[in-house]
Amino acid sequence: MTRAGDSRQLPLAPLPRSLDPLPDESLPGYLLRLAHRLGLAPARVMQLTGLAGDGLQTARRSLMMHLDETRAGAFSRTTRLAATEVSQLCISSMSGQYPWAEPQATADQWGSRALADRWVFTSATRYCPQCLAGDGSYVQQQHGGAWQKAWRLPVVFACPAHRRLLEHLCPSCRQPALSAGPGAPALLIPRAGDGGLYPAQCRAVLRPQDAGRHARPCGARLDTPERPGEDPLAPGDLLAIQDRLLRLLRAEGPATAMSVGQPATPSQYFADIRLVSSLLNGAWPHSRNLITSPGTAGDLDQYIAGISGTAPRRHSLCDTPPLDAHPGTALITAAVRILDSDDLRALGDLLAPARGGASRKSPRGRWIRRYHRAGHNCSDGFRDAIEPLTGIFQRADRRSRGRRAPAPQVTFVPEHALQDWCIGTATWQDIITQLPPTKGPFQPELSECKRQFASEAVWARITQGEHLLAPRIIEGQLSAGDPTWDRRRDNMWHFYLASPAKPHYAALKEILNACAESLATAIDGQTSHVL
Ligand SMILES: [Zn+2]
Ligand SMILES: [Zn+2]
Repeated sequence: MTRAGDSRQLPLAPLPRSLDPLPDESLPGYLLRLAHRLGLAPARVMQLTGLAGDGLQTARRSLMMHLDETRAGAFSRTTRLAATEVSQLCISSMSGQYPWAEPQATADQWGSRALADRWVFTSATRYCPQCLAGDGSYVQQQHGGAWQKAWRLPVVFACPAHRRLLEHLCPSCRQPALSAGPGAPALLIPRAGDGGLYPAQCRAVLRPQDAGRHARPCGARLDTPERPGEDPLAPGDLLAIQDRLLRLLRAEGPATAMSVGQPATPSQYFADIRLVSSLLNGAWPHSRNLITSPGTAGDLDQYIAGISGTAPRRHSLCDTPPLDAHPGTALITAAVRILDSDDLRALGDLLAPARGGASRKSPRGRWIRRYHRAGHNCSDGFRDAIEPLTGIFQRADRRSRGRRAPAPQVTFVPEHALQDWCIGTATWQDIITQLPPTKGPFQPELSECKRQFASEAVWARITQGEHLLAPRIIEGQLSAGDPTWDRRRDNMWHFYLASPAKPHYAALKEILNACAESLATAIDGQTSHVL
């Protein structure tokens, strides 16, 4: 006996009728329109097209990200779409431009499946009511316009064609569009077993406590403006930013964007936007003055207060973009404007170490750890500009190549600067790789004690202060009262200050002085920015 819907056992026949995908259409949107055309419930169409195999009544939401070869083949055969038309329905078709459109595969107790990044909305979507209403063509009059796949991306917050910000809630039940309702598992299409709904009707369950078939979908139309004629037009500058981002998301769009004065691929540019946006979000309300679009800072205020109250937020929340396009617009447009400038001094205040010891759990510390993990995806312009501000020095592959900035006029005194600063382990490794090899059997010490010494040397150079006053962060963390550290460090200072210095110390001094210059320039920039 074969189970209905088991794609491995039932040969799937082509559907009696099919439907051409609309431009930019998502897989759930296409299924909703196709089901409407065939007069079937979406769940039945998923079975007939091989999406809901293995006896499942409906398909997992991860399928909107990507269809594997078997499923894509069955879907293409049954719907009579070309393979490229099928792949274009999935979010992964944007992975050349948008880094998190590439699904991450995972295998756990539920089997292997694709995972979406939190920078793709898979459990609900934003939408433009007017786009859903269709363009007046016959086929769109019959089945509505496209639920667009780009509406699933946090960087898409407005519809330039209709000059409006996107919606995300049903105007009637106030639940997120195409969401399954609170507590329900997120599926490719919520309530997919319910037939007879128009593609633009709300499928959220009205009374989630009525489980199973007693639960009733809301059914309100999402393709009519909530208050016809009263929706204010979105400001032109926001729409211009949205237009730029939408063009970057297209495979045939521009190959580069400018980010902090240097060319970036679209993927790098979106990685820059994400990091700036999570910094603005995590540092709220200190970042408020950087939200420059009129009125949008208030939206962000409300949103952040709504999710966290006054408690400190987990870092994942700071990196979770809001589904609501209003605070989303505030974050994304502010990030774009910051990246449009030639430097990142505007972020200096948010990245400056707090006085009296920044903890690893401070928003700044958490953001820097995130940068360590994700920064390699960012653009050269962003990395070159952000690293001096975070105390991470120029990358080894881009180091000064003989150019040296003139020594900056340092305008701060020791107690302003650097009280909780040391050379981080990644930077220290970078410095070690820049050192020339030492001949002979006696190799120079490159221990944590040396890192402590080098941190003091940079500190003393920047502050023009006495090195004995330098903070001893690494020693405090690691030496655990090791009595040899004092003596070893005294020896290092002896060789460092000797004239002429031995080759190892001469090379180390050159590198550390360059570090000091780069850091001082950054701090000096911040200082003048603050003043
Ligand atoms: Zn629209
Ligand atoms: Zn509703």
